[in-house]
Amino acid sequence: MSGHQFNRVVLKLSGEVFGGGEVGVDPDVVAGVARQIATVVRRGVQVAVVVGGGNFFRGAELQKRGMDRARADYMGMLGTVMNCLALQDFLEKEGIETRVQTAITMAQVAEQYIPLRAIRHLEKGRVVIFGGGAGMPYFTTDTVSAQRALEIHADVVLMSKNGVDAVYTADPRTNPDAVRIDQITFNEVLRQNIRVADAAAFSLCADNGLPMLVFGAEGDDTIVRAVSGDKIGTLITA
Ligand code: UDP
Repeated sequence: MSGHQFNRVVLKLSGEVFGGGEVGVDPDVVAGVARQIATVVRRGVQVAVVVGGGNFFRGAELQKRGMDRARADYMGMLGTVMNCLALQDFLEKEGIETRVQTAITMAQVAEQYIPLRAIRHLEKGRVVIFGGGAGMPYFTTDTVSAQRALEIHADVVLMSKNGVDAVYTADPRTNPDAVRIDQITFNEVLRQNIRVADAAAFSLCADNGLPMLVFGAEGDDTIVRAVSGDKIGTLITA
């Protein structure tokens, strides 16, 4: 797949990307991400973005502090929408048309998730930003990125990650023997219990033959390179 420019992609941006490692949104970081997305959209690539929310709330963490899990998960989902609006703003400043679609209806700020309409927006060169996760507690935005990619017929899920530039045999931050992997199958990832995304996301991709490229978010051109089919990160295939 190297050297192949994708036509329609789902880009998963975790909350960490928006916060620059802090709670909340770092406008400079979001502006940089928007610049990169604008570059590939101008080249004719159709881009949908699934936005995480870990820079605000993670349901599992709030549960450990005594909150009801489902309610905490809804807080997590609402957090993703703030990231969506930040990204929308900087994309519009780049002159790119956008639509935010959320899985939880909030008509003043976003359309509701309508897959056929999302496809139509993409065909018109608009970036579609998916917020609110699946609209269901106990899910993650990783899983949603695989589901949305399947439903809108994207070529690939581009999974951008903070603090790691590829899949390794072990955590490279703690294990000096960790070896970088260029290409691997979903079955191997699941068998080796590699946790670079959640297992449900891997299973959905594996069952439906959808490739996933895991790459590092750091850098000025990593998204552009991932979309362009440059040798970057780890390609996971069925
Ligand atoms: N969440 C959820 N259902 C979804 C997507 C997200 O309940 O379909 C909640 C969950 O609490 C999660 C939080 O929203 O911890 C933020 O999403 P996620 O952890 O996927 O964001 P990321 O890790 O990518 O920043």
